[in-house]
Amino acid sequence: MPNLVFLTLLFSVISVSSVFSSELRLERFNLMIKSCETYPYYDSQIEQTEGNTRLKNDFLSSLSQTKTCLNNHDFAPFVVDKFQHFFEIIEGTKEKILTCNYGVTNSYYAVASSLADELEQGGQDHGLPPHPSVLFDTNRMAGNFPVYMTEAQRNNFVLFYNHELRIEDVIPGTRNPRVGFIENPRSLVFHEMFHWTGSSHFPKKYVDIVYLTQFCCFPQVEHSAEEVAFACELLEEEAAWQEDEQKRVQFLEDFDIQSKVKALIQKYH
Ligand SMILES: [Zn+2]
Repeated sequence: MPNLVFLTLLFSVISVSSVFSSELRLERFNLMIKSCETYPYYDSQIEQTEGNTRLKNDFLSSLSQTKTCLNNHDFAPFVVDKFQHFFEIIEGTKEKILTCNYGVTNSYYAVASSLADELEQGGQDHGLPPHPSVLFDTNRMAGNFPVYMTEAQRNNFVLFYNHELRIEDVIPGTRNPRVGFIENPRSLVFHEMFHWTGSSHFPKKYVDIVYLTQFCCFPQVEHSAEEVAFACELLEEEAAWQEDEQKRVQFLEDFDIQSKVKALIQKYH
């Protein structure tokens, strides 16, 4: 019985201290970073403690890179307005929350809150904190094997890759050498926060401004210099963002823009 009391006490001490250590506040932006010790890449083999600070640094450097990008390009008015809206949210007084998990789902790298969801359904999907917030899955960002696997599931991986992976290399929560990972996590931080402006993916009558700004302002290893330039030029091209919907859609069709953007996205993922 004394042992049980001791264990309970120990457990409560550990959980209290981890709550304290897992939050980081950036007063200037009213930004809260929490539970991101494993950012950007979860690794089940090591104890990770620096993630909150790394995310803070990525947040700050992504902001300055975004400002530089905006200054260095002559973006179309629609695009400039979007950037302005983005900075209004970032610099606004409302609390912003960046949080992390790993292995809860392997279906997304990260997910951003939406103001529309909050207004329409009274809250956010995926257990996200109130808008504006982002949830990063650091196991997915790392391109890891799932965090929890049975022996049978580990064996399935070996079979899936035709025995080119050895069973001893299929370790839950470590990198799967056959899966891509997010090489530029800073750009993902920007990408997710840009969703706060209300832009979502694959809009029918516009090109995908979230991916385009990410690819232009944060060049990805997967893209050539020409492809980066294409993303930037498209953001500068007024015809691609003009108010007249019919003319805009016509322009996108005439130059086969949507499929070119789609090809860039496919290279990235
Ligand atoms: Zn997205």
